[in-house]
Amino acid sequence: MIEGFDHVGTDHVCSVCSCDFTDDEGGIQGYIGIIPVAFCPTCYSGICDMVEQMNDREWEGLTTEDKNIILIDAIRHNWNDKIIVEQIEAKLKEKNAW
Ligand SMILES: [Zn+2]
Repeated sequence: MIEGFDHVGTDHVCSVCSCDFTDDEGGIQGYIGIIPVAFCPTCYSGICDMVEQMNDREWEGLTTEDKNIILIDAIRHNWNDKIIVEQIEAKLKEKNAW
């Protein structure tokens, strides 16, 4: 449950569909900026699917070689997702400049 800006207890209300769920059922609690949010298992899995779809879209327009160069650098430099997306955008800009 959310009280003020804190997550309290093991009973939660989904921030998307308003259903009740517990820690035992799964789902997730966290923060978007400073706003506390809780997602039930169904909404959480839906949100993860959406992110996956967006990530796939980011790669469109890049060749397998371009992707591999970015992925190898990502592993080598231990980049987080934000940096990887920035690198993909930079690569796309570079390609579209021609
Ligand atoms: Zn939900």
